[in-house]
Amino acid sequence: MIDLHSHTTFSDGMDSPMALVKKAASAGITVLGITDHDSTLGWSQASDALHGDLKLALGAEVSCLTEDKVSIHMLGLLFDGQDQSLQQLLADSRDTRIPRMKKMIENLQGAGLAITLEDVEAATPAGATVGRPHLADALVAQKIVKNRDEAFTELLHNDSPYYVSHFAPTPEDSIRAIRAAGGVAVIAHPFASKRGETLSVESFASLVAAGLNGIEVYHRDQSEDERNQLIEIARSLNLVITGSSDYHGAGKLNQLGENTTSPAEWERLEAMADQRRVVSR
Ligand code: AMP
Ligand code: ZN
Ligand code: FE
Ligand code: FE
Repeated sequence: MIDLHSHTTFSDGMDSPMALVKKAASAGITVLGITDHDSTLGWSQASDALHGDLKLALGAEVSCLTEDKVSIHMLGLLFDGQDQSLQQLLADSRDTRIPRMKKMIENLQGAGLAITLEDVEAATPAGATVGRPHLADALVAQKIVKNRDEAFTELLHNDSPYYVSHFAPTPEDSIRAIRAAGGVAVIAHPFASKRGETLSVESFASLVAAGLNGIEVYHRDQSEDERNQLIEIARSLNLVITGSSDYHGAGKLNQLGENTTSPAEWERLEAMADQRRVVSR
């Protein structure tokens, strides 16, 4: 089973890289993508924890914004982790998440909710890219909401009055940076309309021109209908089709291997990186 998208405690996942690798191996995953938000800090711990036949496709999920301010997630896989421009792009994104978090907290305080930056810091593991899920965990700890899901539906969703975006590159810039670092770029859950505004069908052409390699089709936030539209786009633009769990540990319902990528599509994708970078024991 090939599962190309998951998160650890280096972003908003709840399992350490070591725990994730262990769970993936027992779940029968053969290739696991580790794609923390805007970070590669979990790579070394995950590699060190490898055992058995499990292989790793190390990567990151890059937060992007289109010129029309549509939020896009770009999966970069199999790139050179030492590439300075890509690391700078990820660092810029992580840095602006802190003032952004402060603004969201101020917005919530303005509505009379007792939540502070210290509460969010207490809910964020050391070294993690701070994000809304940590704010959600702080709201749970303060007994303002029951769980992460309720925090998102009530207070933190993209159209919420408390929501603030952070600096992010365009999807095209992030694709170019991933490809220049030797990796492959797969757009994550592009038609997950339940999360907010999505891309238009027409905009895929400019992503392909920037070097896009694949589309994540099989993902729990995409309906049958949305998947079928994406399959058509992938076929017409000759893009690789992937599927993945977007596993976050106990923080979300997503289970490892609940959606997978076919071995043939994975082989095609892997061959598009500038060299073999899959990590095995
Ligand atoms: P941010 O990058 O800070 O804007 O936070 C976005 C992240 O929140 C997404 O990548 C998801 O991992 C997570 N997320 C979105 N909706 C939910 C939800 N309903 N429950 C838990 N986590 C969520
Ligand atoms: Zn996440
Ligand atoms: Fe995502
Ligand atoms: Fe994700």
